[in-house]
Amino acid sequence: TYGPQYFISTFVFVTILFLLGVGLGYELFDMFLIAVSVAVSAVPEGLPVALSVILAIGVQRLAKRRAIVRQLLAAETLGSTTLILTDKTGTLTQAKMELITILPYSGNDADARRKLLGDAILNTDVVIENPEDSPEKWRMAGRGLEQALVMGAAREGIFYSRLKRAHHILDHLPFQSQQKFSAVLAHSGRPKLILLGAPEILLGYCDLSREEQRQWIGEADRLAFAGERVLAVATREFREKTEQIVPSEHFRKMKFQGLLGLQDPLRPDTRDAIRRISAAGVRTVIVTGDHRGTAEAVARELGMLDGQGRVMTGEELEKTPYDLWRESAREITVYARVSPEQKVKIVEMYQKLGEVVAVTGDGVNDAPALERADIGVAVGAGTDVAKSAADLIILDNDFETIVAAIEEGRHILGNIRKVIVYLLSSVADELFLIGGALLTGLVLPISALQILFVNFFSDSFPAIALAFERGGNSLEGAPPGRRRSLFDPQMKFLILAIGLMTSFFLFLLYWFLLRLDFSALHVRTFIFASFSTYTLFLAFSMRDLEKSIFQYHPFTNLYLSGGVALGLLFTMLVIYLPVLQAVFGTVSLSFFWIAGVLGVGIFNILAVEFGKKILRGKII
Ligand code: ADP
Ligand code: MG
Repeated sequence: TYGPQYFISTFVFVTILFLLGVGLGYELFDMFLIAVSVAVSAVPEGLPVALSVILAIGVQRLAKRRAIVRQLLAAETLGSTTLILTDKTGTLTQAKMELITILPYSGNDADARRKLLGDAILNTDVVIENPEDSPEKWRMAGRGLEQALVMGAAREGIFYSRLKRAHHILDHLPFQSQQKFSAVLAHSGRPKLILLGAPEILLGYCDLSREEQRQWIGEADRLAFAGERVLAVATREFREKTEQIVPSEHFRKMKFQGLLGLQDPLRPDTRDAIRRISAAGVRTVIVTGDHRGTAEAVARELGMLDGQGRVMTGEELEKTPYDLWRESAREITVYARVSPEQKVKIVEMYQKLGEVVAVTGDGVNDAPALERADIGVAVGAGTDVAKSAADLIILDNDFETIVAAIEEGRHILGNIRKVIVYLLSSVADELFLIGGALLTGLVLPISALQILFVNFFSDSFPAIALAFERGGNSLEGAPPGRRRSLFDPQMKFLILAIGLMTSFFLFLLYWFLLRLDFSALHVRTFIFASFSTYTLFLAFSMRDLEKSIFQYHPFTNLYLSGGVALGLLFTMLVIYLPVLQAVFGTVSLSFFWIAGVLGVGIFNILAVEFGKKILRGKII
């Protein structure tokens, strides 16, 4: 999070400071101590540990919600997602398909239906563990759609295993989302080529009159707009010996056999998940290889086309001039019949528009889009290629899980912000304190050793405990800005404002108390105790950067309360334990000093809360 530049510039700054001081006639050793103090204070020692803990806890929480992060830092990007490009089948729907429409080309009698189904399932590739049992008891593996066809066929009396045994499969082109159909060359008596897939493509290969073409396209559209997934079957028999599928020669003059329609019900929680994530400023767009009608029906059922949502097909995408597409891209909620290449284009378009894009995918062909995405999401049942290209794997393939993961990502991101504001404001604080002393020529109010103590023992435990925070960054919170960087103006404001306010006040006290003739040792111990204590108190204000401390119960995070208590205990030890007094150069403080310390702590909390209030008022 803070790169090598930070260290280099600190080093350069400290060296210059040292040389300048020596040049101005300061003691070499004094100047050395000052330089070391500045260097020590400029490094937030607790930060790497706290960040690691936040990410580790976040990743564990994600795993509990059945989302596996393949890269620790992806958890953070997840939280800044502004757009989800999601698959339809399986992610929004249950992928529990059922064959409900059988429309043979020639007559609708049982024979025609059986012939159509037989051709269709010859073209599928499933495994039935127990083919001897009755179909309802079958345990099957394979693509959902193909399983549904095999089941549907069995209901009409066509049995997959028997059919496959009766045929010799010469060649097979499995389904690919680029071409949107599968092909098989089967042999029983004569070689027969069978295609199964997207109707408008297969109809193009068939020997039909224009009138009939139009009629069947219309038929397929009708089924699709009713929400069904539609498949066409086309065949061609060969007289001559044929052993291989040669697409350029074979895919023409085919005989159209009919249409099949499958129903794929929505997942029950999808509608709600889309609404929830949309309220959090994250838009959902469907990107599917499926028919426009089917996609539209699903989108409509999910309430995604209610307002100004629009549908664009892959074909339209190719025809639309880039600028025009770009202008309307924010209104498009469905991309239908897109190829994997177009999916990549779509990802890139939205990234150009400034969105942080999460993309789901399962197939080998999805890998480029998953890689291009800010967050590639592969489903558990997907291919290994897709998984290795992804940043996030959701085990159950459910859209709801993606939303839950983004939710968790927001928590992670929010907690990282809290820790950074917490630790860096304390760094700013230390720098201002020391800088003030240098400018006014006073003895340093806190020593390098004391700063190290605060950074290691006071700060660190509360910082780590902030990893367990759940508030202030949920989905109900303000939508994230587009491509909001970790160090946005709000963060910088908080860090500087907190650092300036608290250090200015403390420095004023320091200066004033020295004037009042108190012993310098007491004053410096008081400054150290105050600094350590209010840094600890500050953690309670950091629990929620968006809400006032008076709006939440500050002590509900037990880790944090414990961490602060531990820090207070350590601070007391440094002040009162003789051994440590000798090491840290402190003295025992009386009750009145301690009351002052607490007063400083409370005053600072109020000041910080004022800073948060300014932020909430969107003055910045
Ligand atoms: P989705 O985006 O819903 O996953 P697909 O790319 O899987 O869409 O499917 C696109 C089209 O390809 C479907 O509408 C269907 O016509 C056809 N199709 C899908 N799966 C198969 C398959 N296993 N065999 C043949 N055709 C298929
Ligand atoms: Mg698919």
